[in-house]
Amino acid sequence: MKDFLPKSWTVQEGHGIALVIAGPSGAGKSSVIAEILRRDPGLAFSVSATTRPRRPDEKDGHDYHFVSDTEFDRRVEVGDLLEWTTYGGHRYGTPRREVTARLIAGRDVVINVEVQGALALRRADLPHPVVLVFLVPPSRDELVRRIRGRGTETDATLAARLAIADEEVRHIPEFDYLVVNDVLDRAVARVEAILAAERSRLRRCSL
Ligand code: ADP
Ligand code: 5GP
Repeated sequence: MKDFLPKSWTVQEGHGIALVIAGPSGAGKSSVIAEILRRDPGLAFSVSATTRPRRPDEKDGHDYHFVSDTEFDRRVEVGDLLEWTTYGGHRYGTPRREVTARLIAGRDVVINVEVQGALALRRADLPHPVVLVFLVPPSRDELVRRIRGRGTETDATLAARLAIADEEVRHIPEFDYLVVNDVLDRAVARVEAILAAERSRLRRCSL
């Protein structure tokens, strides 16, 4: 491939891409990401740290690193987090070393964050492409149905999450891609297509 390209240009094939999936709670980020990871074991998932209590179906170290407030404070202080935020009264943060080590090793890393976290990752100046995907359900009614169906929220936390969702969708124009999660398999195929396209994108060499 190098034979055909001017020196200062490259395509991403063989180098890591940070694929950031954001969007309202209940849009299906975790579901889409789980399926992408299942289909492509070469992808890595960035396991965030959070102070939120673990849900019954979640595994520590797999879905999140569930940590105390004190431990979260420590990670912030030593610069362990690429970005972090408070959401619904709990803190969430992206692990710096886990993400950068995998990108440097040439693996694509999938990151599940809320919208401000996604925009912060774009500003974090990683020496790797950061691709921002905004995932939406087909309608707001369907969003409510999905959050209720998941059975993880009280009326109060559901209302709080919907209020955040209404604010989050205003940032859609700041993203690179918008993916509608109507049928799960179709949404997964769309995200896979984005990753494939980004691997072939021509970029000025920064690696
Ligand atoms: P998020 O990670 O964005 O908060 P989840 O992946 O937890 O969202 O999905 C919220 C709920 O909606 C879950 O119960 C999940 O099974 C369901 N869900 C996800 N995608 C779809 C889809 N395409 N069609 C119907 N239900 C879905
Ligand atoms: P949940 O409690 O539903 O797992 O996540 C709540 C919100 O926090 C979701 O929008 C999810 O994408 C976001 N989130 C998860 N991990 C991180 C993180 O490391 N950083 C940021 N900024 N948001 C995160």
